[in-house]
Amino acid sequence: MEDSKKSIETLNTASSPICPICGNEEDNKVMRFEEKMFRMGEEFDYVDCKCCSAISIIHPPANLSRYYPKSGYYSILKKSGLRQILMHLRDLAYVTGYPGASLIRKYLPNSALETTWLAAGRNRNSRILDVGCGDGALLKSLARLGMKDLVGVEPLIEQDQNIGGIRLISGDLSGIKGQFDVITFHHSLEHVQHPQTVLSQARELLAPAGRIVVRIPSRDSLAYLTYRENWFQIDAPRHMCLHSHRSIGVVADQARLKITHIDCDSRPMQFWASDMYRAGLLLDSLEQKTFRRRHRRFYRDLAKFANRNGVGDQIIVQLVAA
Ligand SMILES: [Zn+2]
Repeated sequence: MEDSKKSIETLNTASSPICPICGNEEDNKVMRFEEKMFRMGEEFDYVDCKCCSAISIIHPPANLSRYYPKSGYYSILKKSGLRQILMHLRDLAYVTGYPGASLIRKYLPNSALETTWLAAGRNRNSRILDVGCGDGALLKSLARLGMKDLVGVEPLIEQDQNIGGIRLISGDLSGIKGQFDVITFHHSLEHVQHPQTVLSQARELLAPAGRIVVRIPSRDSLAYLTYRENWFQIDAPRHMCLHSHRSIGVVADQARLKITHIDCDSRPMQFWASDMYRAGLLLDSLEQKTFRRRHRRFYRDLAKFANRNGVGDQIIVQLVAA
């Protein structure tokens, strides 16, 4: 793979900008990233922290909603009937031992479901809160496994909803009351400007012996090293912070949480999607099928290799109250 290190834009600034995660202001770099999901033609400056290695947006846009269009943002798009049936079968594979279940789990993995289900100790009475729940896809999967106490919170939905007993609340954690056994952030914590505050709020909602699960992109990854500004998980300006293993530890400390485990669950998409950005293409363009198929086996093996060696571009962080 071509080393794109030289092509990344590093800007010279009179003074080093402060890292919003750890507060370091010495020897930080400024990097400029393009909005690539919709090719809106805008660029955003990020600070790359010399101390904790977090890469954080410097000036988040005032109006964020325009970067999450209802017609295009994946977490709130309606799924087709066939896709819903496949998802239903896939979910059942997590709790049944029927022939083929392991094959379904292998080829249609659902890491959000698996990590939440395991964090709940497979206990159907667990109280679950999913932060940044989108259209409630995970909670619907958990309901299909027989779970009943399910709440989601999502700023992108316009009003509160009740879907067969699943409560979806419009807004953020400040509007949530109660106690939860498992609180999950499946690719949502990178969308907030102050993750320390959000994790502190989550800690206050945690039941005794409760767990927090954070799934988040990691800059300590083979994909970031390889693709740099074309790594598809940079996703400026929606992703306000690209964490490192170290910086997620910093925000956990600040929120009085303790990390019990970190794993990687990266997928081949980290490579083929970044290839598409490198080629100047939109992810939902007609060429997607070609890019998904090209190097399919190699990228699958490479993702496994990266995960085994702690350099996958997605991490699963398990936390408890310190
Ligand atoms: Zn820092």
